[in-house]
Amino acid sequence: MIAFIPLIFALQQGVTATVSPPAGDTVGYWQQRADYRITAELDEPAQVLHGKATLTYVNHSPDTLGEMRVQQLLNAFRPGSRWSAADEREGRVRFQRLKEPDLAYERFTSQPTVNGEPVTVTYPFAPDSTVARFALAKPLAPGDSAIVHFAWDARPSATIYRRQGRKGRKYDFSQWYPKVAVYDRGGWEAQPFIPNGEMYGEFGTFDVTLILATDQVVGATGIPVAGDPGWEKARVWGEVHLARDAYGAVDATLPEVAAGKKAVRFYARDAHHFGWATDPEFKYEGALYRGATPIHVLIPRAQLAKLGNGTFVKWNEHALEFLEKIYGPYGYPQLTGLIRLDPGATEFPMMAMYGSSVGEGTVSHEVGHIYSYGMLANNEWREGWLDEGLTSYQSEWRIGGTPQDVAEGAKQQGVAPASGYRAHAHVMNADDRSTMQLLDMDLLGRAQAPEPASRTFNEFNIYQAAVYSRPDMMYGMLRDMLGDSVFTAFLHDYYARWKFKHVDELAMRASAERVSGRKLDWFFEQWVHHTGLVDYALEDVETTRDGDGWLTRAKIIRRGEYRHAMPVGVTSQDVGGSWTIVRGDPMLDEQWVEIRSAAKPMHVRLDPLHSTEDWDRRNNVSGGLLDGRATTYVADWPFLAQTDRSHQLVAIGPEAWYTRPGGFTGAVRLRSNYATVGDAAWDKRELGVALSSQIPDGANGAEHVMGWLTFSNPTVPFRDRPLVGVSAGVWVLDGITKVEIKKDWNLSPFLYSNGPQQHLKLGFDATLPYDDRWLDLGRWQPANVYDVNAELTWRSRLPQSIRARVKGFAGLDRENDDGTTHAFERAEGEVAQTGSFGAGETFTHKLRLFAGASRDAPLQRSIGLASLDATDTYTDDFVRGRDALFARSDVHFVVPGGAGLRGYSPLVIVDRVVALNGEMAATVLRARAKSLVPAVQLVAFGDAALGRLPGNSDAHTFADAGVGVLARDQLWDRAVTFRFDVPLYVRDPALAPGGKPGDDRVKLRWTFSFADLW
Ligand SMILES: [Zn+2]
Repeated sequence: MIAFIPLIFALQQGVTATVSPPAGDTVGYWQQRADYRITAELDEPAQVLHGKATLTYVNHSPDTLGEMRVQQLLNAFRPGSRWSAADEREGRVRFQRLKEPDLAYERFTSQPTVNGEPVTVTYPFAPDSTVARFALAKPLAPGDSAIVHFAWDARPSATIYRRQGRKGRKYDFSQWYPKVAVYDRGGWEAQPFIPNGEMYGEFGTFDVTLILATDQVVGATGIPVAGDPGWEKARVWGEVHLARDAYGAVDATLPEVAAGKKAVRFYARDAHHFGWATDPEFKYEGALYRGATPIHVLIPRAQLAKLGNGTFVKWNEHALEFLEKIYGPYGYPQLTGLIRLDPGATEFPMMAMYGSSVGEGTVSHEVGHIYSYGMLANNEWREGWLDEGLTSYQSEWRIGGTPQDVAEGAKQQGVAPASGYRAHAHVMNADDRSTMQLLDMDLLGRAQAPEPASRTFNEFNIYQAAVYSRPDMMYGMLRDMLGDSVFTAFLHDYYARWKFKHVDELAMRASAERVSGRKLDWFFEQWVHHTGLVDYALEDVETTRDGDGWLTRAKIIRRGEYRHAMPVGVTSQDVGGSWTIVRGDPMLDEQWVEIRSAAKPMHVRLDPLHSTEDWDRRNNVSGGLLDGRATTYVADWPFLAQTDRSHQLVAIGPEAWYTRPGGFTGAVRLRSNYATVGDAAWDKRELGVALSSQIPDGANGAEHVMGWLTFSNPTVPFRDRPLVGVSAGVWVLDGITKVEIKKDWNLSPFLYSNGPQQHLKLGFDATLPYDDRWLDLGRWQPANVYDVNAELTWRSRLPQSIRARVKGFAGLDRENDDGTTHAFERAEGEVAQTGSFGAGETFTHKLRLFAGASRDAPLQRSIGLASLDATDTYTDDFVRGRDALFARSDVHFVVPGGAGLRGYSPLVIVDRVVALNGEMAATVLRARAKSLVPAVQLVAFGDAALGRLPGNSDAHTFADAGVGVLARDQLWDRAVTFRFDVPLYVRDPALAPGGKPGDDRVKLRWTFSFADLW
């Protein structure tokens, strides 16, 4: 058996492609060499670049190559590409519908030759043409060279700027030349170009001559060894340092060019890509960094006010200063930054391109990439986390913004303190909010690990989170564990060994292990190959005298999937004072950590400085009764959402309502949650205690006391994560006890991308009247009703607006008076569509088709002709009880639902129905942000239904029509809807709200609601 182990090991190595040798060091490492000599002429009238190149390719690998793979990356930005297919799948529209002359392309204009032999070019991923395969007539043995000649045309897109673009006389060329794919230990690493992942290239020399109109100003990878890049003429600040001799004596001859044209020759060594952009309107600013390295920046005139006068130049200098401190001396002879058409930013060796909204943080990130990616060249198709994550972390680190730089409470960057009414809200700071947003992905079970390969990710945002945000956390956790000096020494070692080489996980890990003297395989394994969360809990604390000082023993338990050397701190001052910190052993799941301190500890806490990514901070202090630890109480201000990162937040507020038997009822409500962002509300709980001023005659005095308790996404014992989608509640209110348990599965294919939204919900409901004298007999029959229900909902991807739903119920109904029990069933479904038209989308049409059928359903589970059933409106204090404020017959309030016939009373029920609801709305007022002005629509509606009233086997036609007004607003954190309708026509006037037999069909009537049917 032992003999098989190396084989299994070899197979595993084959699956996980690595470029570094097994030791993780450079001994035995090889890489191919690719030297380009390119001449390219920009034909502005035709908007095409004509290129010719000689590639000298040296096979340093131990393998004989029978083919070559060449990437034509510009072909991603057109219909038929894998990039376009990914966009189509995720509901983004970019290049897939472009037509001539707007689409981008890169195509050979003659048959390429290898060592003088013409080669056949095939496209293995056709119709995608970003990967070309050259079959070699004569295989390339180890140590052999191939001379490859290409001639090609390249054209960026005229309308959609992503990496590339052309507009007027401005051209951005990121990907533009046939680029030989990397051949490494994993073989040819040629991937179709998709939105996830991008860069991987062979190192070599670029000798590029660009032939441009005389007035063009050009920025590129490389040193302008000959010809005029146009900088001196365009200079508005600083000095131009061409540094033509940076590489010593190189061929600096220029070709003859036509009148009105110029040739500029750029030369770059140790580069694996060459990017450039040109624009006659560019303005130049420049400086000499540390007296030696020229910095060139090219800025369009419109951005000069913001970026000019040396601002952009200085951002580049600051970035280099910090990077040299953490990695070592900059390895290239120049640095260029320029503003391109694409609003995003991209790095290239020695240069970066930015969108017009560039800020210092972006420059810090992109210049950081010139280290991690440019000089430490990783394979972004597989390991984007090596550079994107490190670069994200590094740029936060530079401004002191990482969790490892900031002690608790000191960080409130980028958020002005809230003012006005909002100042009452207790909220998380911006950093905690974005951290929780990322962790929510994990808690919802949608996160993916940084590896495997980028093409395996389900959606773009999850890929981004996996290669930027999760590794950003990972590098912070590594620094937290190793300490600043060891972490910086690790980056120095990594850079010194791997500069101008291909790096991978093993290369990085070996550097970190070598410098720290610790085994870190578990650390990289968990962060890079697995999703998970960090969560440790403080279970127990013992404090004893220890000589002159004190000994604190803290029992800590690992609850999350990820391990960490968790800091445990004691302080003798108020929190915020200095902490004595000792770290736990990451390998132990349960341990006692001992901390000695001179003074008696006042507080003991896990992660006291919040320097780790421990997701649940509530268990970082030792426990109290009923999980009361780390709870914060605040006032519940109406319309404000409140939450906390370190505590379970409890917001306390009042409630009041009226019923006839109960009189006025007052309640205290405690609403609670933990670290909520958007819809993801963890450990949402609500507790209410109510007292009614009256009770029915002769009732037990206990009926004065009512209350409720609800949970959603709860944390439960013996489970380390909240139960996602689970909610439950018990209410004892106004004579009826209700029990509800629900589970919601989010079956949407994407969490963030524009796809259909699909949910399956299963529920159990029981409504159990405990004193019939409280019941509104128009809505509730005196019976215990139990049912299980299942609902499937679907909403189309945008811009289509279609939603559909089916729901089924099966239940039992036990009559209170005679105890008879019978089964009931109900099924319903609906499809609704809305759309806008007219100038500024002023008009909206809405259509809905509803069908429902029930058998023997009790009143509280019957299909309403206008309204939701009483079980579903139970939690509404204004309609639940007898003679409740909005349940009275003279109030005309409806909770829209059921068959949706607005002109009918909410008390009308049907046991068979097919209904069509239609509406046209004109927007007369648009909501304005930060004002109390709502969006207002004037509405004309008409509804028709064919249905059967219970106990009547004849089908009956119901119809109504009228006008209404709909107002919607976002009041601080809560969306509010109000609708007032005037159903002028009702086919059955006696069934209208407040209707009497003998009423006219056409009459002035009214009804209102706090929700809309759509
Ligand atoms: Zn980046």
